[in-house]
Amino acid sequence: MGIADGNALIRSTAWDFSWRNGGKGNQQIAEKVVLIDTVPPDIRVLSRAHNITQGGAGLVVYRLSEPCPRSGVHVGKEFYPGTPGGFDDPDVHLAMFALRIDQDRDTGIYLGASDRAGNQSRAAFRHYIRLQRFPEDEIRITDRFLKRNLPQLDTQLTPVADKAPLDQFLFINRTLRESASETLSAVVGGTRPEMLWSGTFLRLPGSARQAGFGDQRIYLHKGREIDRQTHMGVDLAAIKQAPVPAANHGVVIFADFLGIYGNCVVIDHGTGLQSMYAHLSRIRVEPNQTVDRGDIIGYTGSTGLAGGDHLHFAMRVHQNFVNPLEWWDGKWIQNNITSKIMAQQKIR
Ligand SMILES: [Zn+2]
Repeated sequence: MGIADGNALIRSTAWDFSWRNGGKGNQQIAEKVVLIDTVPPDIRVLSRAHNITQGGAGLVVYRLSEPCPRSGVHVGKEFYPGTPGGFDDPDVHLAMFALRIDQDRDTGIYLGASDRAGNQSRAAFRHYIRLQRFPEDEIRITDRFLKRNLPQLDTQLTPVADKAPLDQFLFINRTLRESASETLSAVVGGTRPEMLWSGTFLRLPGSARQAGFGDQRIYLHKGREIDRQTHMGVDLAAIKQAPVPAANHGVVIFADFLGIYGNCVVIDHGTGLQSMYAHLSRIRVEPNQTVDRGDIIGYTGSTGLAGGDHLHFAMRVHQNFVNPLEWWDGKWIQNNITSKIMAQQKIR
């Protein structure tokens, strides 16, 4: 229409049929200042190498040419919002993202941004996807296990109250697992925009690994396959009721009973990164409490759907679980997260 971008004034004028003002009528004017913007935002990718493993996390740093209410990384159908990174340059943003274990090399990964006028743009960034094998693990569900575990989830079993114990177990393993996952996705909405953590994440001291991240669990009852689920954390066993330290600095965002996870604590580390501690016998923290790396947040136990006393430790990036191994590895954190941030002179 030949109108230039920038500030503009929309003026609406209305007259009625009155004979006043020499027959011109009563006049009313309304004005509104608007911003005409037909130019999509420009996204410049600042970080270089992006190696992402199936089930793992990644970080991309980028600069936007104008303020955008929404920008971040698209990974297949998933969207991971970015935040201003607290850099010298306020237009520089960072976005933490994840590749789910069921997403492969065909997954489209790119940055997207939309400005205040809704103009959208995309930017590709160089990345490499490493495939990962996830072992199968058979879990035998015995009648003794059902007898011990079903009563503590009693209040949540109302829809299947008159069903057989095995059907109640399947309800827990499928429906309650799903609803716990929805609760966790809801709490991530409260993530802090700034990075609260530093250094490597703590692993439960003196513990042995019982099950790994991404294990393909096949549930058997009397030799018959009854269910399949993916194990989205690492199971660590130490002594019974071992004190559980916060893996890193952050803010407690959840501390309550959560279905299959039993007594569960979630710590927010900012920018969508969270650590989770499940099956606790006792919780020692409250929501909104700030914790330091190593602070005792509770004690291991077997609440929820657990075969024995252990800690189910999990890490999340926004709505998805990621492999905790990466966050226990100082070299991985240096190469994939901190070096990219340091390169942009982060203000702390
Ligand atoms: Zn577990």
